[in-house]
Amino acid sequence: MGNAFNLGRLFGIQVRLHYTWFIIFVLITVSLSWQYFPFYYHGWSWLMYWMVGIASSLLFFSSVLAHELSHSLVSRSGGIPVKSITLFIFGGVAHIAREPEKASAELKMAVAGPACSLAIGGLFGLLWFLTRGTFEPLAAIAFWLAQVNVVLAAFNLIPGFPLDGGRVFRSILWRATGNYGRSTRIATRVGQGVGYLFILGGILIMFILHNWFSGLWLVFIGWFLDNAASASYRQAQWREALQGFTAADVMTADYPVAPSDITVSQLVQHHVFPSGRRFFMVADEGRLQGMLTLHNIKSVPRQDWDVTLVRQIMIPVDKLKIAYLNQDALSIMEQMDESAINQIPVVSEGRVVGFVARDDMIRFLRTRSELGI
Ligand SMILES: [Zn+2]
Repeated sequence: MGNAFNLGRLFGIQVRLHYTWFIIFVLITVSLSWQYFPFYYHGWSWLMYWMVGIASSLLFFSSVLAHELSHSLVSRSGGIPVKSITLFIFGGVAHIAREPEKASAELKMAVAGPACSLAIGGLFGLLWFLTRGTFEPLAAIAFWLAQVNVVLAAFNLIPGFPLDGGRVFRSILWRATGNYGRSTRIATRVGQGVGYLFILGGILIMFILHNWFSGLWLVFIGWFLDNAASASYRQAQWREALQGFTAADVMTADYPVAPSDITVSQLVQHHVFPSGRRFFMVADEGRLQGMLTLHNIKSVPRQDWDVTLVRQIMIPVDKLKIAYLNQDALSIMEQMDESAINQIPVVSEGRVVGFVARDDMIRFLRTRSELGI
């Protein structure tokens, strides 16, 4: 997820705010301050409604953060590092480095989030119980947060991947059958089903109840769930298919190379036109210096092509994602997914030996399946 602001670190985990978070923060704050609190509680000043609305909204997102943090800390205690937590329009997501290797680890990790939300809900419930009848605004905040945290836990326990309940479901299937791939496929299919149900429910709410906002919101959530489930489904298929292969198996050694000290004109004349390729590795005597795409060439005005060197416009090697010859193919795939790139140079002892393109991986797997091996 790009376009996010760093908020700092909590327990060593980077916390980020995606720009879409500001949309949901404003929506929730406004609807609380303008509708919810004035509807249920009368006679406060407008300043009080807004202060209570903003405080509730901030505490809600802190609760979401605590939920993700619980997943993350349990994951990390099981040996799987967590890179960051991002809050975005549909809630929060923890970027966990890889999938757990055991069903029991996954179960613990998945349950941690909803358990945390239930606990927070319980604490706010207690706070409400202690403050009701004393200071109404505080009791109102506590009551709302107790409710939403319980709803958050319940929503996340819906048994469709990638929701926590889907992970719980997968870990149970996984433990029962011992088949990770099949369990993932079933849990992600259920997740897609849940997504479709949300979309259908949203459409019904829009057209039958004429509640456009809630309906549209449900449709969006359904669409998001369906997307996330399909992505996990594809990933599970990749994971199974790529098991046991390394960069050396899936890379191609037929890659276009250009030296770094020629001009852009020379590059276009002697490399781009004759080969028809859209990207080039830049290497001097086998040493990888960088990479270059047609996009980089286009960024230079035509009249400067004779005086600009390839070195000046390439993406330098220290900014490139690089794969190693004996790196397993699956982690290369994950690396490409993470950085949203389609090709990656393969390096061995500083020398470029090939590159892996997403298309090549697909071709490689297809050829193997056609040959029946
Ligand atoms: Zn969760």
